[in-house]
Amino acid sequence: MSETAAAPAASLRARAEIDLVALRANVRALRALAPGAQLMAVVKSEAYGHGAVACARAAVEAGAGWLGTATPEEALALRAAGLRGRLMCWLWTPGGPWREAVEADIDVSVSDMWALEEVTAAARAAGLVARVQLKGDTGLGRNGCQPGADWAELVGAAVEAERAGLVRVTGLWSHFACADEPGHPSVDAQLALFREMLAYAEQRGVRPEVRHIANSPATLTRPDTHFDLVRTGIALYGISPSPEVGTPADFGLRPVMTLAANIALVKHVPGGHGVSYGHKYVTPGETTLGLVPVGYADGIPRHASGTGPVLVGGKWRTVAGRVAMDQFVVDLGGDEPEAGAEAILFGPGDRGEPTAEDWAQAAGTIAYEIVTRIGTRVPRVYVNEEQSG
Ligand SMILES: *Cc1c(COP(=O)(O)O)cnc(C)c1O
Repeated sequence: MSETAAAPAASLRARAEIDLVALRANVRALRALAPGAQLMAVVKSEAYGHGAVACARAAVEAGAGWLGTATPEEALALRAAGLRGRLMCWLWTPGGPWREAVEADIDVSVSDMWALEEVTAAARAAGLVARVQLKGDTGLGRNGCQPGADWAELVGAAVEAERAGLVRVTGLWSHFACADEPGHPSVDAQLALFREMLAYAEQRGVRPEVRHIANSPATLTRPDTHFDLVRTGIALYGISPSPEVGTPADFGLRPVMTLAANIALVKHVPGGHGVSYGHKYVTPGETTLGLVPVGYADGIPRHASGTGPVLVGGKWRTVAGRVAMDQFVVDLGGDEPEAGAEAILFGPGDRGEPTAEDWAQAAGTIAYEIVTRIGTRVPRVYVNEEQSG
């Protein structure tokens, strides 16, 4: 992830300011909400677009006992950047870097026999004990081992590999499908099945260090799902998993990313002037247009054409016409800010700017996608990095 040190942030075309003080405070708020559990900071996909290494460091400083990534490559990159402590990754494909992961002391997730075979082979080759976490599918229908015969086979083989000194089963875990819809009956059903799958494995002799199933929405709304560890992603970045769960402020969370750009051009145009590709917007009368120099190549959703909100000069403006690859236009209604004036796309909201949730609604998606898709062409500028918060 590109960082900037030398260039003054205000002169950049666009920037994603990452408030690490807010991130640390979010870690502490989440730990207070799950006092009996350890906290895993989920920093996959460049920490949901915020920058994996900087956010991982800040989260660990603030008390996250674990880091989590999807891919082994992401986990290995954190080790290479000097992050120690517990680190887990869960999205493996055959032939993956098992040996590197075992040697880097990474907890690896196993959902199927092929994966257990590959990790035990890697442990044997490395002369090390692999830390393995068995994942059960309690109803998400995605990754994870099916309950019943498949689980019995996987648990049995893992216990054997443990007795052979090749693996240590450090965790038993699963993932929710609908925890962001409070009251959804699948949450209770998954929880009940998780307890059954745990009981089965424990009765076969598995003694996990951690049992875990809670993502951000479950961490925020269902204390009975916390077990030994909660895996929080979106909440760490100060964003609510869904409006139904609540606002960030309801949980003492503060959005970490502010996306801003500098207006590249302001000009007067007559009424009836088409704007951007396809002329989907036509000026209703004489007005001023502002050119915002970010586009879908930077992760601004093209689906927000005609709907995305932007704060310019204290007023909400709306994307006029189509979002292009590198730029879009807002109708400034006759206002004449200088070229270089700040356009805030989203942030915490307390300067009157829209939030990532506002963009999610404008684009018909979720706030997770809004922050995660901000591209590498937008430099991340870390704010208050050196303070302890
Ligand atoms: C992404 C992810 C999380 C974090 O989810 P949030 O809703 O962002 O908290 C937790 N567990 C797994 C397996 C994930 O893939």
